[in-house]
Amino acid sequence: MAHDFTGVHALVTGASRGIGEAIVRRLDAGGARVALVARSADRLGAIAAELANRPLVVAADLSSEESVEIISSTVLAEFGGLDVLVNNAAVERNEPASKVTGRAIDETLFVNLRQVLVLSSAFAKPLFAARGSIVNISSTAATGAGGTQGAYAASKGGLDTLTKNLANEWASKGVRVNGVAPGLVDTEMWEPTFERLGEESVREGFAKRVPMGRWGQAEEIAAVACFLASRDASYVTGQTIRVDGGMTNI
Ligand code: NAP
Repeated sequence: MAHDFTGVHALVTGASRGIGEAIVRRLDAGGARVALVARSADRLGAIAAELANRPLVVAADLSSEESVEIISSTVLAEFGGLDVLVNNAAVERNEPASKVTGRAIDETLFVNLRQVLVLSSAFAKPLFAARGSIVNISSTAATGAGGTQGAYAASKGGLDTLTKNLANEWASKGVRVNGVAPGLVDTEMWEPTFERLGEESVREGFAKRVPMGRWGQAEEIAAVACFLASRDASYVTGQTIRVDGGMTNI
């Protein structure tokens, strides 16, 4: 069952598909008005058309410096404040360290880490006023990636540290900051890997690494993210919860 988000204004980055879309749908089902942020305006519009609570679509590219100003001014003009910020958008590239470029590293760290802090900062005052909550979508790669994920893993490791630091910095303001670290989740993020290594062998081979024996679904990540965002998690802050079918316990 969805948590009660009646009267809540929320913003989700990376809302156009996968885990972000599932979080948006769950927040909306709980009664929240949600701002959907990503680059694909068409996909955002199609999702928004199915939501119940007058969503707001903000097409923006977080790899650009000016996107944060566009997002914050649009959202605050429409919502007048913000209760929940979900930093979910991310760039994931599988590149051997011997071939990775500085530009690819910069973009990964910029979108996955730098912009999370800048966006959180841009919404600091409204979040303080609302005694709101931030949820950062991390990854089990933060604590031990499977290789060829150097920049991505480093960005998520940095994100977990940021979650803890911001939680302590803003605790006295009444703002909680938490994270969710998914394991293997069946989303479009995996398409390049499927293309490179073969979909069936990746699906079956990777599932063997998970004690629960299967991939997770985006909704199973959204459920934990929305718990952390909700009033039911009122004494939880600075935590990143792994949602990985037990994979990192091995
Ligand atoms: P996904 O299907 O690839 O979705 C990524 C989302 O981020 C899309 O909505 C994409 O939208 C948005 N995005 C990417 N670059 C952007 C940019 N420059 N500006 C604005 N939006 C941008 O991935 P997912 O699996 O749902 O992943 C969501 C989160 O979970 C990410 O933080 C990822 O690291 C994390 N995660 C996923 C898995 C997994 O197995 N799937 C595992 C661990 C962690 P547009 O393309 O429309 O801009």
